[in-house]
Amino acid sequence: MKYRDQIERAAALIKKSTGFYSLTGAGLSTESGIPDFRTPGEGIWEKFDPIETSSVEVLQNNPRVFYESAFNRFASITMAEPNPGHYALAKMEEIGLLKGLVTQNIDGLHVKAGSHQIWEVHGHLRSGYCQGCKKRYPFEELVHQVELKRIPPVCRNCFDVLRPDVVLFGDPMPPIFYEAEDTLRSNCDLMLAAGSSLVVYPVAFLPRLAKKLIIINLLPTEYDHAAEVVIREKCSKALADLAEALATN
Ligand code: NAD
Repeated sequence: MKYRDQIERAAALIKKSTGFYSLTGAGLSTESGIPDFRTPGEGIWEKFDPIETSSVEVLQNNPRVFYESAFNRFASITMAEPNPGHYALAKMEEIGLLKGLVTQNIDGLHVKAGSHQIWEVHGHLRSGYCQGCKKRYPFEELVHQVELKRIPPVCRNCFDVLRPDVVLFGDPMPPIFYEAEDTLRSNCDLMLAAGSSLVVYPVAFLPRLAKKLIIINLLPTEYDHAAEVVIREKCSKALADLAEALATN
């Protein structure tokens, strides 16, 4: 199928749907300057193993390593801005078609782009908390202490180590993941998966909850065979074209 026909087919499915949701991944934000994990030649995984620096084990046993590597990457992500793909998804919600989106991204770009119903199932970089007493802090407090070379940053209450509100390797999934899963199981008749390799579990189970699937991704995914439409294009272009087709048809 030609690209234009794929967009039209996807738009027609969305218009017929009664429960249209999106699942987004790191590929949606590469065009905002944030590397994903698995793009060959560019993905973070080729430069270092995130498990060695972004795990609960490292944070607890060697917080300095966590703060001198993974944390710097997190802090740089907070400067990024949404791209046309994020804005297109916000538009689809605004015009009443998209019921909500589940994102694996921690970059907060869906919030910045104006989406409302978002499940950030791997957390976000707007806040952090104390591992000991659980007192909450704005993310900037962690950044501020690191800039002052207070590594690791500590709680003003109990002096235990602070951590960002992201799901690290080895963390359990947060309650909102199960909320998103329940919502999809009950309501999702169509899912648009954009910019995800769909290999990181348990999120990668979620497409199975949708009756129909549309995929936008530059590389093949393990769900391509099950999708009604697979669009092999950059998220920014494909999502913007799709939003336009939905708004004008
Ligand atoms: P992934 O790296 O496994 O897969 C990204 C996919 O997006 C790849 O298949 C790639 O081909 C595709 N892609 C890259 N740029 C694209 C573009 N412009 N348009 C269309 N497709 C594009 O990412 P994942 O599936 O989200 O899983 C990785 C994990 O990494 C997630 O758990 C996420 O929490 C975390 N992560 C998040 C960020 C972020 O917040 N922006 C960045 C890196 C990693």
